[in-house]
Amino acid sequence: MSQPPKHPSLLELYPEETREAADLLKQAVPLMVRHAIPPNPVHYALWYTYSKGMMPDLNRRLDKIVSDFDVFPPESALKLFRDYIIRGELEEARTGQQQVIDLVDDIEGDVSRSVSGSHSYQTSLAAGLAALHEPIIDDLPNVLSQLQQSTQIMQEQQEQFLYRLRAAQSEIQHLRNQLERAQLAATLDGLTQVFNRQAFTRLLEQSLNNGHQGLALVMLDIDHFKQFNDQFGHPLGDRVLQHVGQLLRDLLPPRAMAARYGGEEFCIILRDCKDLEVARNFAEQLRSKVQALRVKVRRTDQVLDTITASFGMALAEPCDTVETLITRADDALYQAKRNGRNQVHPALKEPVPSA
Ligand code: GH3
Ligand code: MG
Ligand code: MG
Repeated sequence: MSQPPKHPSLLELYPEETREAADLLKQAVPLMVRHAIPPNPVHYALWYTYSKGMMPDLNRRLDKIVSDFDVFPPESALKLFRDYIIRGELEEARTGQQQVIDLVDDIEGDVSRSVSGSHSYQTSLAAGLAALHEPIIDDLPNVLSQLQQSTQIMQEQQEQFLYRLRAAQSEIQHLRNQLERAQLAATLDGLTQVFNRQAFTRLLEQSLNNGHQGLALVMLDIDHFKQFNDQFGHPLGDRVLQHVGQLLRDLLPPRAMAARYGGEEFCIILRDCKDLEVARNFAEQLRSKVQALRVKVRRTDQVLDTITASFGMALAEPCDTVETLITRADDALYQAKRNGRNQVHPALKEPVPSA
């Protein structure tokens, strides 16, 4: 039987990079202003998707609502959000829920059968015992064979129940793994397989809340990457980004995390850094590994040895917030660029007071 088409997930619906997403938002916001649409996440999602123009049906419905109503009805917005934006997620959640319900139903059926088996066993046992108390037993072999039969049935039912229980356990484990994989995918950058910016910001915030001690932030930006793309094409540029992602995953020390912060910028949160030298050693190692990357242009077999990156780094201070720490590392990165690129630059010690 053919499966109904699976609706795309949020990640599949919105694969665009930050810059493209920002352009779409720039188109969506004036539309919302023009139609006096309340600025809330549901409307942002709807009008962002409208600007993307990938769901003509949604666009027709939004056009109709704004022409029919003076004020956009919130229930219509929610319905459209469910029907078009998070439909994939809702379906996935419903499927998972149904699988668990089916499993519980199956187990319940097995338990009932096992219980009724125990009842009939108890009845046979009682009848058998009563017969043994009779002064004269006409048919002892028959009484005993009935008892034996009931015992066997009950044993089989219990074995079957145990078997089903184990199968259910492994099915539940499988569902849990699936869920964990989906959750992980939502935090990863699709191209480079390091964490995405949202996951990075969340983790940095958590880490700072838990204490700044020993926490360092390293930011890296690939040098002259625009020129690289212009010269060798975006697909090769993408391969470079993938290689950098792989390097990060390979070189990451324990308790560190790496993320793609934006286009060709990456961030690394390091722990247990007693001073900035520890972060500098890590960044230097990464810098020389990036410089050692050799990427082959498939069309011409030319091997490129010109990829470099610049690094900024900052050690968290007690008064740092996510913003101040990123700003300091980013300023240091800017200094590394100004000083000639392909180098590591430390941040000023003191956080810049926020405006
Ligand atoms: P600088 O040394 O000053 O960092 O120069 P740059 O050219 O690397 O910096 P700029 O900010 O001018 O350009 C960044 C480039 O990164 C532009 C864009 O084409 C490229 N880029 C961003 N995201 C991606 C991506 O996902 N894939 C590819 N191939 N290129 C990307
Ligand atoms: Mg950049
Ligand atoms: Mg760059």
